[in-house]
Amino acid sequence: MGRIVLEQVAKRFGDAEVIPALDLEIEDGEFAVFVGPSGCGKSTLLRLIAGLEDVSGGRILIDDADATQMAPARRGLAMVFQSYALYPHMTVRKNIAFPLRMAGLDKAEIERRVQSAAAALNLTDYLDRRPGQLSGGQRQRVAIGRAIVREPAAFLFDEPLSNLDAALRVGMRLEISELHKRLRTTMIYVTHDQVEAMTMADKIVVLQAGRIEQAGSPLELYRAPRNRFVAGFIGSPR
Ligand code: ADP
Ligand code: MG
Repeated sequence: MGRIVLEQVAKRFGDAEVIPALDLEIEDGEFAVFVGPSGCGKSTLLRLIAGLEDVSGGRILIDDADATQMAPARRGLAMVFQSYALYPHMTVRKNIAFPLRMAGLDKAEIERRVQSAAAALNLTDYLDRRPGQLSGGQRQRVAIGRAIVREPAAFLFDEPLSNLDAALRVGMRLEISELHKRLRTTMIYVTHDQVEAMTMADKIVVLQAGRIEQAGSPLELYRAPRNRFVAGFIGSPR
């Protein structure tokens, strides 16, 4: 569960062709990182996969099913936003439980999943607090908890750490990598930070102007960047 295939995926906004035609395969359990300069289409690509935008052409397959025919909620994916997307008036418990209450799960199952996510994220002691009473890192963990409880086929992260200070970013980066090792769930992670890409990814997808410049393991891209753009982005000596 969690293989994502893009076939000739295109996206236009009016006259602007943001993604011309993109092919990509992300294997089940893979940690894929999309990197590229601001405006290259990283968020758009993630939103297309999540179903928050409709494709202008092509198909997105999730475990061989055509996701472009499915409503976002049916795709089995969980998008993690920056920590400020939490509900400030709700406790941590309610924030984490929110998607499950929307989905109509029964109370006992919701509590079981919330406890399990809180334990995985070291949030057990904070369940009755509100986001304003938490540190930036804790808030980010709550945002991740809200995704974990849905037990998704894949997690989609859009620059989740960009609001955190440098020291916290390093800690959260390690925590997300640990989480991936533990869950072995497919993760797609968008960043413009080369260090995050190089240290977290199984596969890095380097984007420029809606096209894939190169996709491969960090080592492959470092050793054999296909062009100067990739080399420049990855920081390899070519
Ligand atoms: P990134 O996340 O890599 O910074 P985006 O995916 O946000 O890039 O944006 C890619 C391009 O698509 C940009 O030129 C942006 O202005 C444009 N774009 C994104 N969303 C919309 C939208 N809803 N309407 C019009 N243009 C958009
Ligand atoms: Mg973006």
